[in-house]
This record gives sequence, C-alpha cells and structure tokens, in this order.
Amino acid sequence: MGKVRLKIDGKEMEVEEGSTLLEAARQAGVDIPTLCNHEKLLPYGACRICVVEAGPGPLKPACATYVVEGMDVKTSTKEIQEVRMTVLQLLFGERNHYCMYCESSGNCELQNLGYRFGLDNFQFPSYEDKYPVDVSHPFILFDQNRCVLCRRCARACAELGGHFVLEVKNRGYQSLINVDLNNQFAQSSCVSCGLCVQVCPTGALVDKRASYLGRKEQSETVKTNCDRCSLGCGIEVSRRANFILKVFGDWDYPLNQGVLCKNGRYLPLYDERPRLHSPKFKEGGIWTQISPDKAFSLIFEKKGSAEVFLEGSLPLELIQSFQSAFKDRVFALNQVEPPISSTATIKDLEDADTYLVLGIDLNEQFGVVGSMIKRRVIPQGAKLVAVEAGSLGRITDYSYEYKDIDTALGEAKKGKKVVVVYSSLPGQVAERLGSESGLKFLFLPYETNTLGLRESGIRHKAPQGNVKIFAGENIAPIRSPGDFIIAFTPFETPELKASADLLIPIPGYLEDEGTFINLEGNEFSRKKVVNPPEGVLTLGELSARLNNF
Ligand code: SF4
Ligand code: SF4
Ligand code: SF4
Repeated sequence: MGKVRLKIDGKEMEVEEGSTLLEAARQAGVDIPTLCNHEKLLPYGACRICVVEAGPGPLKPACATYVVEGMDVKTSTKEIQEVRMTVLQLLFGERNHYCMYCESSGNCELQNLGYRFGLDNFQFPSYEDKYPVDVSHPFILFDQNRCVLCRRCARACAELGGHFVLEVKNRGYQSLINVDLNNQFAQSSCVSCGLCVQVCPTGALVDKRASYLGRKEQSETVKTNCDRCSLGCGIEVSRRANFILKVFGDWDYPLNQGVLCKNGRYLPLYDERPRLHSPKFKEGGIWTQISPDKAFSLIFEKKGSAEVFLEGSLPLELIQSFQSAFKDRVFALNQVEPPISSTATIKDLEDADTYLVLGIDLNEQFGVVGSMIKRRVIPQGAKLVAVEAGSLGRITDYSYEYKDIDTALGEAKKGKKVVVVYSSLPGQVAERLGSESGLKFLFLPYETNTLGLRESGIRHKAPQGNVKIFAGENIAPIRSPGDFIIAFTPFETPELKASADLLIPIPGYLEDEGTFINLEGNEFSRKKVVNPPEGVLTLGELSARLNNF
C-alpha cells in the first residue's frame, strides 16, 4: 500500500493510503472527539461529533473520510467547535440524558463529551418522547431513552457477531433501534453474546447483573481466559470485592478479538447450583460435615482399589496430582480422542468458502466459532452446510439430517476451501468423512482441557469397579450396588448427593488459577479472580494432599 502526504493542523505528515482522517490525526497526536466510532467496527459517520475541515465543501466526519494526497485538514477551528457543540446539544436534548439516574454515569462516552465541551445547560427542549424500557432479556436491559443512535450495537451484532438481530427503524428523530422485527429481546433471535452491551457508549444497553453495583473506578479488571470450552477466549473480568460484576471480551486477544458467547459471558455468573463448602460423608443415608483430614484418610483407605475418572474441566495441575496419587488408574470421564483427526486451525475459518457443520448448534456452543462462520456466510456469501446443527440450520438453504450425509457432503465439496466443524460424531458419519481428502477438519472438544488430558496420557474408560473417584464441575455418577463413590466437585446437587458417599469441595468458576491446553494445543493460564467460599480447599492444597499419598 502506498503513502499519502497531507497536512493536519499545519503539521506535514505521511500516512498509509486508505487511512481515515481520524486515524491520520491520531497518528499525528491530534485528539478528535468521537462517539459512534469504534476501532473494531467499520467507519459509519452517524454522530458527526468528529467533523473537521478538509478542503472545499461542508465539514466532513473524520471517522468516515479517507485521506487524499495534498489534503489540508483543520480539526479545531471556531466553526468546527460550534458545530460539535450543536451536535452535542442535539444528542443531549433528544432523549433522557439525566445522568444521575443512569447506570452508566461515570462510564459514559456521551457524558464524557459533555464535560469535555463544558456543556452546562440544555439548549433544546429535552426528553419529550418516552419509550418503554425492555427488561425482557435475561441478562441485558435495553433503554431506548438513553440511546444516541450511534448504531454501534447493530454494527457489532452484525459485523463482529454475525447475528444481525439489531437494526434501525423509522426516520429522523423517531429512529429507534429495532430488535428483529419489532420484537422484545426475549422473543428475538438474540443469542446473548453481549457484544451490543460491550460497545454501547451510553446507558442504553446495560448488563443487568452489574447494574447499580458501582462505578468503573470502584471495580478492578482482571484479564484472563474463559475456561468454559476448549477455545479459551480472552476475557476481561470486572470484580468488586469478592464479586464478579461482569465479563467482557478482550479486544486484544488474537483468538476471539473481543467476541464472546453466552457460555463465556453470562452463564457461569448465573449458575445457581448449591455450592459445597466442606467435605461431607454419607453414613446410613445421612450426610455429615467432616474435616479435610478425615476425608483424605477415607480416600487413602480406598486408594488400592479406586479408579479415578476426570472431567476435562480440571486444570493440568490437578490432573497431574491425581496421576501422581493413582498412577495408571486415572481415566478421562469423556472421550478425548477426536472422531476424525483435526487438520484445521481457527485461522482456517477466516478464508474458507464453505463450512460443513456437523452436530453442533454454534449459536449455543462454541459461539465464537459460530460468529466467525456466520459473519463470513451472511454478508460475504460463503456457504454453510448444516447437518443436525439446531438453530444454525435456520440461516442456510443447506440444512440436513445425518441420514442425508452424502447429499450434504456433495454440496460442501462444491467449495474450494472447505472446513468441516464437529465435536462428537456418530460412528458411520466419522467413517464416511474420515476417508475424504481435500477437506480440512476442525475438531471442537466440549471440555476445556480435553487436550490437557490427552497430552497427560489419560484415555477414556467407562467407569467400572466398586470404588470410583470422580472429579469435575458437571459429574453425574451412576451408582451400582456395592459402590463407594467419591466426588471432587464445587457443587452438591441433589443428584450427586443421591449417588455419592463422599464429597470434597474444589474451587469453582475463576476461584483459582490453573493451566489448560486449548483445542489448537496452546497452553493458557486461567487466573484467580475471586476467593472460593470459606472451607473450599485451593487447588494447591488439594494437589499437596494428593501428592503425599
Ligand atoms: S443502544 Fe447504545 S450502541 Fe445502540 S445505537 Fe443506542 S447508544 Fe448506540
Ligand atoms: S446480545 Fe449479541 S446477538 Fe443479542 S442483540 Fe446483542 S449483539 Fe446481537
Ligand atoms: S467460545 Fe468457549 S472460550 Fe469462547 S467465550 Fe464461549 S465458552 Fe468461552
């Protein structure tokens, strides 16, 4: 790409061809105010707060005007400042921007502009039309009255998420953000990825859980990785005291670049399963709280005959401690081998022209992979062939059942760059596809540390024997007569209490640090964000006790 020479506020400079005036100004250290602009979204030019003088004709939006050789740009003349102030007055006047009642006060880009421009009165009549607030979404509150129509939400939903749930209806000052076709959020096709909330500059779209629990400066942000599936997306977790307020996507993390799914952003924060706070032992059908020493002595007594079954939700450190204690009697609770070897990377999704998705609804699981595929399919015309893929099948003309796998495969093979995406597969389907050449295969393991188990030499085995130890977040052992069942788990669900004899609490979501290996074989570290409830043994304490066996 060539270079373009121009002048910004009298300063000569050279920038990449194709840069916007806003990018050029930032390169020159000139600060132009913005509101609708977002660096992860395409230029839009909706709000006009960034207008500059650039050659003859009217003022131009710096975010959506591209550099031209020889341009002489002025960014802060008296006229520009007056126009920006009028734009700001109109934005404040149009709807409810009484900041003191707003959840986003103190963290609002519109409010920040008000302070920057010294706005100390409303010039125009304010807040004449009142709109209903949509509280129907389980995680998001939507107040059109606080909206400045920047369209960031709709642009992020489409451009980054690939979901196309939001758009604008009506014209002029009556414009409103529209959820599907005049739906409330709860009845819409929203997949709860939360991107719209993450990019909204005002208090129009807010995270319900974090609402009114404190301003940004009263919380801390911890950058870490999501441990809810084998992608390991980058996340930013807001914490206040020992409470997780909300989870945002990390814009700088290369794999997901800010995009998350509901399993990573919301569901773990709304998990209401009862927590286990201390070891418990069941005798004569009655559960009694016991000390960790007593619990581990009971396990030690059974050590010789016990077999251990680990879920892939556990970090490497704990997996290795179970191996140290129980040697070759440690197994994976679920399959760790892919039904077809993985030959593709996440990067291969970016330039494929055809996706064959088998048996996974990517709106519900691996949502970030879903976004990568949907944003290529809907606006860019890549082909999606969906086989038993749930709601994903609704956005394609090529939706099949497993019995039609040959037709689906024939359709997919018309593409030049085909990526097959799957998790578990029926045996005949795996066999049918495994012999295909010219296709790339991307295996998505459900459990975060499936590769960690595999690389530790642990293989799947169906639980057998009478003394069984299970460890993980979602274990549901089936009891046979004569069994003695030990469960290392954060939860004491009624099902678990019915089947187990001994329960040992382990840390839950973001309650301890640990190492995982993601689906591409990359190690990532999950940080500790909050303390586990009192009485729960840390992973270090659990490991120390197991390593001493
Ligand atoms: S809801 Fe928020 S992001 Fe969407 S247009 Fe309104 S202010 Fe912008
Ligand atoms: S939560 Fe995600 S899918 Fe739902 S409207 Fe917002 S961006 Fe779109
Ligand atoms: S795709 Fe997986 S790792 Fe990424 S946010 Fe969703 S659950 Fe977390």
